Amino acid sequence: MLTVKNVQKSFGKNKVLKGVDIHIKKGDVTVILGPSGSGKTTLLRCLNFLEKPDEGELIFHDLNTHFKDASKKDILQVRKKTAFVFQNYNLFNNKTALENVTEGLIIGRKVPKAEAIEIGKKALDKVGLSDKYTYYPSQLSGGQQQRVGIARAIAVKPDVILFDEPTSALDPELVGEVLSVMKTLAEEGTTMLIVTHEMSFAQDVANKVIFMDDGVIIEEGTPKQIFVKPKEKRTQQFLRRII
Ligand code: ADP
Repeated sequence: MLTVKNVQKSFGKNKVLKGVDIHIKKGDVTVILGPSGSGKTTLLRCLNFLEKPDEGELIFHDLNTHFKDASKKDILQVRKKTAFVFQNYNLFNNKTALENVTEGLIIGRKVPKAEAIEIGKKALDKVGLSDKYTYYPSQLSGGQQQRVGIARAIAVKPDVILFDEPTSALDPELVGEVLSVMKTLAEEGTTMLIVTHEMSFAQDVANKVIFMDDGVIIEEGTPKQIFVKPKEKRTQQFLRRII
C-alpha cells in the first residue's frame, strides 16, 4: 500500500534520516522503536509531508514520485489518505470534542455538516467518548483528549494512521485507555504505523517492528524476532536498557 525508499532528511547540517526504506501492506501494524533523536518522528512526519524529505521515493496507491518532485496535488492526495495522531493531541482548544473531529471532514473534505456530525459521533463512540461530544479539551483528561485525536483520525477513513508517540505525554494511569483503543483498531484491521516506547504493546499488537538508530533502520522483523532474538548489537543494547 505504501512504500518509501531512500528517505533522507537534514535540518541544516544535522542529517536526521540517512536513507530509510519502509514498506507497509494493508492491515499492517508496524511499530518503530529507537533511541530518542534517532529520527523516528521525522520519518513519520515525512510520510505525509509534514516535513519534506530532501531525497527519496514515495509509492502510495497509483502515486509514484520522488518526494522532491511531489506536486501540491500529490501532497493533498497523500494527506487525504493518511491521518496523523500527535504526541500532544493537537486539538483546537476553542472547539468541542465533536467539532474537533468534524472540522477536517467539513473544511478539508467538504463533507456536508450533518453527515460530518454523524460520522464524528460514531468516531467518538468508538473511542468510548459518547458522553463527551460537547466537552472542550480543557474539560477532558489527557487520555480523553488523545482519544479525541484518534477519533479525528479514524473519522476521515484513512488508509493508514500514523501515530507519533501517542501516549508519551500522558500520566501513566491514562496510557492504558489509549493503548486499548489502538489495540481494538489494530484487531479490526486498521493499517497503523506507530512510534512508541510501549514495549508490551509492541509485542502484543504489532505484526512488524522496526528498530531505528542514528537515522537508519538497524533491524526489522516480527515482534518475536526483534524482542526475543534481535540480531544486531545495537538492537540488543537498546532493548536491554529499555525492558
Ligand atoms: P526521535 O523521534 O527518534 O526522537 P526526531 O525525529 O524527533 O527523533 O529527531 C531527530 C533529530 O532531528 C533530533 O536531533 C532533532 O533535534 C532534529 N529535529 C527534528 N525536527 C527538527 C526541526 N524541525 N528542526 C531542526 N531539527 C529538528
